[in-house]
Amino acid sequence: MEYQAVLDIKDFVDLSGFNKQDVSLIKKACAFASTAHESQKRLSGEPFIIHPLHVAGMLFEMGFDAEVIAAGLLHDTVEDTGITLENLKRQFGQEISNLVDGVTKISRIRSENIKQRQAENIRKMLFSMVNDIRIILIKLTDKLHNMRTLEYLEKGKAQRIAKETLDIYAPLAGRLGMARFKIELEDLSLKYMNPGFYNDLKSYVTQRKEVREKYIEKVKLILQKEFAKYNIKAKIMGRAKHFYSIYKKMKDKEKTFDEIFDLFAIRIIAGTVKECYEIMGVVHKLWIPFRGRFKDYVAVPKSNMYRSLHTTVIGPEGKTLEVQIRTHKMNMIAEEGISAHWAYKEGKKNLSGIEKELTWLRKLKMWKENMDNPTAFMEDLQKELLEDEIYVFTPKGDVIELPIDSTPIDFAYRIHTEIGNHCFGAMVNDRISPLRNSLHSCDVIEILTSKNATPGREWLDVIKTSHARHKIRAFFSKHETKEETHKQRDQTTKDTPRAEKKEDRSVKEKDYQDEFKLRVEGEKNVQMYLAQCCNPHPGDEITGYITRGKGITVHRANCKNLKAIKDYQKRKITVEWEEKTTKVYSVDIVSKDRSGLLMEITTAIANTNANIVELHMKASQDGLVKAAFRIQIKSSYQLKLFLKDIKAIPDVKSIDFR
Ligand code: MN
Repeated sequence: MEYQAVLDIKDFVDLSGFNKQDVSLIKKACAFASTAHESQKRLSGEPFIIHPLHVAGMLFEMGFDAEVIAAGLLHDTVEDTGITLENLKRQFGQEISNLVDGVTKISRIRSENIKQRQAENIRKMLFSMVNDIRIILIKLTDKLHNMRTLEYLEKGKAQRIAKETLDIYAPLAGRLGMARFKIELEDLSLKYMNPGFYNDLKSYVTQRKEVREKYIEKVKLILQKEFAKYNIKAKIMGRAKHFYSIYKKMKDKEKTFDEIFDLFAIRIIAGTVKECYEIMGVVHKLWIPFRGRFKDYVAVPKSNMYRSLHTTVIGPEGKTLEVQIRTHKMNMIAEEGISAHWAYKEGKKNLSGIEKELTWLRKLKMWKENMDNPTAFMEDLQKELLEDEIYVFTPKGDVIELPIDSTPIDFAYRIHTEIGNHCFGAMVNDRISPLRNSLHSCDVIEILTSKNATPGREWLDVIKTSHARHKIRAFFSKHETKEETHKQRDQTTKDTPRAEKKEDRSVKEKDYQDEFKLRVEGEKNVQMYLAQCCNPHPGDEITGYITRGKGITVHRANCKNLKAIKDYQKRKITVEWEEKTTKVYSVDIVSKDRSGLLMEITTAIANTNANIVELHMKASQDGLVKAAFRIQIKSSYQLKLFLKDIKAIPDVKSIDFR
C-alpha cells in the first residue's frame, strides 16, 4: 500500500544518519499518519500532520531511534482517527503499537476527569500502566508542542490545559530530571494561567536586560582572569531565572520584582569534576559566600540525577550572586534528565563512561530487562526518581509535593492549618491509615477531621515538614494554658477513671465504654460515634461510615438509613467491637415448671448474643424447676441485657449469677 506524505519528513528529521530500513520505517509512518489525519486541520489552520511531524522532530533531536520517531508520527492516529491499534500492529509491529497505545491512554486523562475525583486514574495511568519510560517521553514531547501552539485555543480551554500541565506534566518532567522540558512547560503554563503577570515580567526582564548583561560581563572578566592563573578552562554564562520560578518566589516568599532582580546568577561549565571544586575555591576566595548556601550535589546527586555545585556569594558591587558549577555531562543531564540516555547511546555518541558514573543509567538498563514485570519496573522507577520528594494527590487530583517520609499530618497542614489542627485520621488510597505512617508517591489522601480533635505532642516526633512543625508549635503556644488543664484532667482520669466517667457520661454509655472499644482495622484511635438511628449494641453486627469531618459513625450492619446514604459503598469501613474480656458466668434460675420455659430462656440467651457453655435442668418436688447455665458473656452490658430478658419471662422466681 502506498501512502503520500503532504509535508516532507526531511524538514523535521535528518534522515542521513539512519540506515535504509529505518528510513523506510520513518517514511512509512509519516505517510500513514498523513493519510490518517488527511481531513484534519489544527486550529492554526495548518494541516494536522504538522503536529506529529514536530513531535517526531523533537524526538529526533533528543536522540531517539527510528521506532520512537515512528511512534511519535503515529501518536495521535488511534486517538483522533479511525485507525485501530490492531491496524497499527499489523502495519508497524508490536513495539510501535504499544508505544502509541500508551500515549493514547495517557492522553485520555483530561482535567475534567481529575476534577471528578479520579486522581486514582492519573496514578494508574502515569505510574502503573505506563511500563515503558519512552511512552512518557513521547507524551511529554507531544505536550510541549501542544503548549507551544496553545494560543489558537479558546481561552478557557487553554487555561485548563495549562493548569493540567502545571499539575502533572511539568512536575513529571522535573522528576525525570528534564529541566529543559520542565522550564518551558511551566513558563508556557504561566503565560496562559496568568497572562497579566507574565507580560509584566517579560517587559521587566527586557528593561533590565542591559543592566544584567553588563553586570554578568564584569563577573566573567574577573573570573576569567583568575581562572587563567590556575590554568582552568571553563565556560561562564549568565543565567536568567525562568519566569515560573520567579512567579513562585514572589508568591511564596512575598518578594517584589526589585528584590528578585537584585539577584544575579551564573553557571560555570568545567571540564572535570576536580575542576568544579577548584572553581568553587576560586569563587569563594574572590567573594564572601553566604553561610548555608553551599550545596554539593556532585558528591550527593539529587534523585532526579541532578548534579552540580551551588553557592551564593556577595558578588561585585555587593550584589547577591548565585553560582552553579558543573561539568558538560552534568549540564547535559541536568537539562535533559532521563532522556539524555538516548542522546548518549552507543554508536551515535560514545559516552558509555557516563553509565558507569551514573547509577540511574545502569538501573534504567535493569528496568528495561524487567519490562515483562511492570510492577517491579514502576517500583524501581518511583524509588529512584521520586526519592527525595514525594508527590501525592488530594481526592480532587491536586498534586502536593512533600519531603520523603512525610505523614498525613504534614499533608493536612499543607492543605490548611485548620485541617491539620483538627485531623484525627486519614484515608490513604481509600484505606484508613494511622497518622504517623509515611506517605508514598502517588498516594491519594483524604484527611479525616473532627471539631474536637486537636494536635498531639507526639506529632512533633513524626512530621517531616517545617511548615507543620511551625503550625503545631503555634497551636500549643496558643493553647498552652488550656493544655495544662487537660493534662491535669487526664491524670485524674487515670487515677479514678470510674468516678470521672460517671460524671461525664450517662450510665448506658459508660457500660459500652467500659466493656467495649470500637476498633477500625489496624487503628484504635479513630474517633467513632454510635449512630443514633439504629443505636448498635455491643455484639451487634456493625458497619462504619466515614463521615466528612465528624469521624466514623457506627451503624448496625443492616441499618436502612446507612444503606440509603448515597456514597455508602465508597465510604463504608469495617469496624468491630474490641472485646476486652469474655467471661463465663454461672447462672441459676428458679422458675415455676411449665412447658415452653426452656425455649423462652434459650431465646433470651440467643437475643443477647451470649453463648451457652453448659445447661442442666432439674425439677424439684414443689413444682419448681432449677436451671443451671454456664454462659459466655462478653460484657457486663450484655449480662445486664440478659438478666433483664430473663426477669421478663413469666414465672421466673429468682436469678442468681456468679
Ligand atoms: Mn498529539
